[in-house]
Amino acid sequence: MALYEGSLQMWKDGISDLLSEGPQPLTRCTVIWHHDESTFYANDRRKVFWVHKNETAILKQKGDGASLMVADFVSTDYGWLCSPNQKESAHILFHAGKAQDGYFTFEEILKHAEAAMQILEKYYPDENHVLVFDNATTHLKRAADSLSAHRMPKTVTKPGAVPFGVDVPALSVEGKLVYGENGKVLKKWIPMVDGKFADGTPQAFYFPQGHECAGAFKGMAAILAECGLTEAWDWPTQCLDFKCPPGPGHSSCCCHRVLYSQPDFMECETLLETACRAQGFDILYLPKFHCKLNFIEQCWGYAKQKYREFPLSSREADLECNIVEALNSVPLLSMHR
Ligand SMILES: [Zn+2]
Repeated sequence: MALYEGSLQMWKDGISDLLSEGPQPLTRCTVIWHHDESTFYANDRRKVFWVHKNETAILKQKGDGASLMVADFVSTDYGWLCSPNQKESAHILFHAGKAQDGYFTFEEILKHAEAAMQILEKYYPDENHVLVFDNATTHLKRAADSLSAHRMPKTVTKPGAVPFGVDVPALSVEGKLVYGENGKVLKKWIPMVDGKFADGTPQAFYFPQGHECAGAFKGMAAILAECGLTEAWDWPTQCLDFKCPPGPGHSSCCCHRVLYSQPDFMECETLLETACRAQGFDILYLPKFHCKLNFIEQCWGYAKQKYREFPLSSREADLECNIVEALNSVPLLSMHR
């Protein structure tokens, strides 16, 4: 965020610093788009309200009723992500839950990000865009062969054994999953990608052709030793249950912890980062357990307050219609503020 701060449009009392502070240097602005999902329930209505003294009590609907999830992107500069004429929008409505459309999977998040980027490329090409996501497991999915110290052995592959690697689903030439006789998806072994030394040069985790152990996985101790941590040979593979001692002891307790903390392992890109960066968009993750830093939460809050004022209806079309109307009721000025 600090990196972007200089190019962000700042809002004070709903007024942009681009308007309030006289001539601005001609720089490219950055727009931050926050992503999130929220659920709306059919029976969610205001419970306390004024009525005429002649009005009689009506029985409340039991339970939350049907639910609909909405996923969207929002920015303080433009509000909900859509084309300027509002004909194309990034919001999607879906039924959550296994029995219906399923939960928002990684593939759907990726599709959603792609739809958002398409609108941004088409209508807002003069700004830099940053997409912000929650630190949720589905958002953090990495390529199957990406760097991971998890399950790595400490020492070199024993002769004749299959070296450490990653099992991925086997695909046919048409790109379809292949099933074995037991009905399970067949897996195939692939090597893990190379790591990186501090100077950025690749570090192979498998012995090269011509070496007496050609093709074998080097093991964590050798990998760490190549990075200058020769003491790794004396460390255990992993502290009991991976509960490493806190503080400085952390940096030399076990092979798993130290490898896990190496810059190349820490900086390993997520699939979402790879996809967005390939299209020229930056992406940020909110700190773990701090999804409330996302100002979209206040937008959901405002929209739900509006939503509760609509007349009760169990018709699905009404539910959808009410959600969209409630979302569009959040004033842009409130978002600027
Ligand atoms: Zn440890």
